[in-house]
Amino acid sequence: MFVSRRARAIIHADLDAFFASVEQRDDPRLRGRPVIVGGGVVLAASYEARACGVRSGMGGRRARELCPDAIVVPARFDAYVAASRAVFAILEDAAPAVERISIDEAFLDVTGLERISGTPAQIGARLRREVRERVGLPISVGVATSKHVAKVASAAAKPDGLLVVEPGRELAFLHPLPVERLWGVGPATTERLHRHGIVTVADVARMDETTLMGIVGRAAGRRLHALANDRDRRPVRRDGRRRSVGAQSALGRRPHTPAELDEVVVGLIDRVARRMRAAGRIGRTVVLRLRFADYTRATRSRTLARPTQATRPLLSAARGLVAATRPAIERRGLTLVGFSVTNLEEVVGGVQLELPLDGPAGLELDLALDGIRERFGAGAVRRARLLEAGDGYAPLLMPFDREERAR
Ligand SMILES: [Mg+2]
Repeated sequence: MFVSRRARAIIHADLDAFFASVEQRDDPRLRGRPVIVGGGVVLAASYEARACGVRSGMGGRRARELCPDAIVVPARFDAYVAASRAVFAILEDAAPAVERISIDEAFLDVTGLERISGTPAQIGARLRREVRERVGLPISVGVATSKHVAKVASAAAKPDGLLVVEPGRELAFLHPLPVERLWGVGPATTERLHRHGIVTVADVARMDETTLMGIVGRAAGRRLHALANDRDRRPVRRDGRRRSVGAQSALGRRPHTPAELDEVVVGLIDRVARRMRAAGRIGRTVVLRLRFADYTRATRSRTLARPTQATRPLLSAARGLVAATRPAIERRGLTLVGFSVTNLEEVVGGVQLELPLDGPAGLELDLALDGIRERFGAGAVRRARLLEAGDGYAPLLMPFDREERAR
């Protein structure tokens, strides 16, 4: 018997120029004017500023050259966190499964809600109206049968729009688009694809997968080929049931210098903390897992005075754990290192309390970095360790350059 798989209905909701829109909402003098949030590096630009070519992640000087009339305002992260919470409260009411992607973006699975809540298009339109009326912000919505197409649709709907891709119309929608619209294709991949004459999503879809992998790498090639052909069955993962957030990395068998190991530790904690912030979780206990060359294992943990989702306190706990196990690492040789954060709580008031204490190198910068990476890919900005910094660690904004992108 032929069994048809029922089409899923997925919504991607994404606030428009989030930080800049909050500033325009709160100060009527900024409305209709080019607004840049952040003086050093552009953290967000209003659509009026984007019209002059200003983009997030751009240096402030360059942005002011492009847009001399722009009003530059400092970031107010407490206001953004509050606005984000108010928006998520509306999203959580609209669907049983809501997956937070970042401070201003989420997926909702609205499959089978037709009788209760209306068609996916009606749900999307209602979300937009409620966010506008109750929080005062523009949000764009894409509706489709997969996460990927929904995300591409919301981007195409911007600013302040709604786009529904009807079931069966996915390829007709995707294929004429430029390759950079595919999820995960940043400036580096775009440039590389262009060099091979691959310009549209259709070009990618028609290509042989192996050839594509030769151009952009194995994992990316496989992923892009699948997305261009509308193969994306990833479920919307409901936040909230997760008990820990972790990441691990296998190491080669050769000995590692303390500096090399520290680099791995920084990368892992950065990834864990970013995922915690995306999921709206704070945690108290950092767990270190080690596997040695003789296949024995060790686990150590450290509990912080208070829960956090900021990178810096998690990293300093992680480094303390590694330092404490240094003799064993040197004696037995390390082949795998992993961290997880447990004792998770939902963010209630913790984030706001932490903001002023952590200062510019703390959570607010973490959130800004998350936003920029979400827009430009994980490689867009990197943390850099400054040797002269007190605790040996300071996040630095490093806009990508050509060499970095070409890697
Ligand atoms: Mg957004």
